Amino acid sequence: MLRIGCHLSSSKGYLAMGREAVKIGANTFQFFTRNPRGGKAKELNLADIEEYQAFAGEHGIAQILAHAPYTLNACAKDDSLRQFAYETMCDDLSRLAHVPGSMYNFHPGSHVKQGVQTGISYIADMLNRIGEQGFSTTILLETMAGKGSEVGRNFEELRAIIDKVEDTGRLGVCLDTCHVFDGGYDIVGDLDGVLREFDAVIGLDRLKAIHVNDSKNALGSHKDRHEKIGGGQIGVEAFARIVTHPNLHHLPFYLETPNDLPGYQREIELLRAMASRQVM
Ligand code: FE
Ligand code: FE
Ligand code: ZN
Repeated sequence: MLRIGCHLSSSKGYLAMGREAVKIGANTFQFFTRNPRGGKAKELNLADIEEYQAFAGEHGIAQILAHAPYTLNACAKDDSLRQFAYETMCDDLSRLAHVPGSMYNFHPGSHVKQGVQTGISYIADMLNRIGEQGFSTTILLETMAGKGSEVGRNFEELRAIIDKVEDTGRLGVCLDTCHVFDGGYDIVGDLDGVLREFDAVIGLDRLKAIHVNDSKNALGSHKDRHEKIGGGQIGVEAFARIVTHPNLHHLPFYLETPNDLPGYQREIELLRAMASRQVM
C-alpha cells in the first residue's frame, strides 16, 4: 500500500492532523514543528500525542515527517544565527522524541557568499553537535533547487555534508521532485539515470522520503516554485513512474503542492490510482 500524505497545519495538534489525514485518504503526513518563519513552538501536549498514537495505530499511520522552519540557516555567517538554528533543532528533536517513528527534515541552509565549502562545513558542524545530544529521531537533508546560495543543490553537496558527519546512523535524505528537477536532474526523461546517480553519489539506502511536487518552471531553472501534480513541467506520466519505481515505491510520499484539503485528497487518489497501475 502506497504511503502518501500531504503537508498539514500543525496548529491544532497531532490528533487533529491524524484525523485530517484520514479524512483525505492519507496514511502519513508532514507538518511544520513550529511557525515556518521561526518563532516559539507550542507547549508540548503529551495527552494529545498519546491520543494521536492510539488513533494513528487504528488507522495505519506508521510514520510521519516533521519539517524544520525553513528560515533556520545552519550555515549562516553570523554565529548567533547558527546557534539559533542549532538550539531550535535541538528543541524540535527533544519534542519529537515523544513521537516514535517520526523523522525530521530540514533545508541544509544558504551559504550567502561564504562559499559552498564553508556552508557544508557549518552544516556538518551543526549535525555533529546535534549528534552529541543522542536524539533518536532520523534527520533528513532535503535536496534543494539551488535558488540563491542554497546548499544541497546537487547530490555531491549532500554527500559532502554526510562525509563530514561523524555518526551518520540516523542521517538520511528527502528527495523533493520539484527541487531536483529545478536543480537540473531530468526525472522526466531519465528517472532511472537520476536514481543511478543518486545511488552512486549518496547511496539509495540514505533515501528515506519523497516530496512529490510538480514544478512551475523548466528543468534546471533553480527556481523552486511548486505546482499541482500534472499542472507543471514534470507532468502526470513522470509521477506515475516515480510512485511505481522499484527503488521508490516503498518510501513515504508527501505532497507540498499549492492545494486546499480537497485538492490534496484528489492528488492522493490520483497517485494511489497510479501506484496500483489504474492510470499509467
Ligand atoms: Fe522543504
Ligand atoms: Fe520539499
Ligand atoms: Zn520547495
